[in-house]
Amino acid sequence: MQIAFIGLGNMGLPMALNLVKAGHAVRGLDLAEAPRQVLAEAGGRRVSSVAEAVDGADLVITMLPASKHVQSLYGTGVFDHAPRTALLVDCSTIAPTVAREVAADAAARGFAMIDAPVSGGTNGARAGTLTFMVGGAAADVERARPVLAAMGRNILHAGPSGAGQTVKVCNNMLLGVLMLGTCEALRLGVANGVDPAVLSEVMGKSSGSNWALQVYNPCPGVMPDVPSSRGYTGGFAVDLMLKDLGLAVENAEASGEPVPMGEQARRLYERLSASGHGGLDFSSAFEKLGPG
Ligand code: NAD
Repeated sequence: MQIAFIGLGNMGLPMALNLVKAGHAVRGLDLAEAPRQVLAEAGGRRVSSVAEAVDGADLVITMLPASKHVQSLYGTGVFDHAPRTALLVDCSTIAPTVAREVAADAAARGFAMIDAPVSGGTNGARAGTLTFMVGGAAADVERARPVLAAMGRNILHAGPSGAGQTVKVCNNMLLGVLMLGTCEALRLGVANGVDPAVLSEVMGKSSGSNWALQVYNPCPGVMPDVPSSRGYTGGFAVDLMLKDLGLAVENAEASGEPVPMGEQARRLYERLSASGHGGLDFSSAFEKLGPG
């Protein structure tokens, strides 16, 4: 498969590297030079424009920060230069409404497009064990499946266009709430003299067990190879979590479904971002949230 991969950030680069490993011909584009270089050294092709990336591609994959980046990249580049036969796959986390709009624009120009946001974090991206939540026509999901399978373990069809993003928004609202609750519980135990590793092990085998605690522990030193053990770098940025909680609250308002826990999580991540920590991993709430 000829694959254009646009957005080689914390998630996109390890995902693209897994596609190279699986034997696909991958052209990688990012605003930054460093990840393009890493991809080229691993056997991918470094390109410097959207036109060059998507020319003759069977599949175009995007892994960009937010809605506005996706709207702009497809609207001003991909639609103009990709062959109509290419399947367009947006893996970024964006508003479900925007995902539906971009897919409708794609369809109007003769393209098939699916939304395929992911869960599993940067370790999941590196290990090729991501979960893909896919929205779109069943036939297009099946067409993408063999390629997605090189980057993920679970490829789940959530429903029609935008449904992948709806599921992702629900999942990440829950993740934000669970991370903040996990930070609070760990800090409370530590303040009362319990070793955080012991506390984590016991809660991990009890009813408080969850992904933030067991796979992505926010307390430095409890777990190797997670952002909390490398100064909260290289994971899922506070500002990206804030964006996702914003999407959840927006969605809740539009659908008349109250999400008071999601709103509280958004307020707390807003505070963390406003105090200058927007670029740190979202588990930094453990150390940086402070009283407020
Ligand atoms: P990131 O900021 O590390 O990467 C985004 C990349 O897109 C950057 O390298 C940036 O230079 C590039 N980019 C932006 N505009 C571009 C353009 N016009 N052309 C080419 N490249 C462009 O973000 P990330 O952590 O990799 O997350 C990407 C998406 O995946 C986000 O929507 C995020 O919410 C979602 N996500 C992240 C994680 C995680 O753990 N980091 C997990 C699941 C989902």
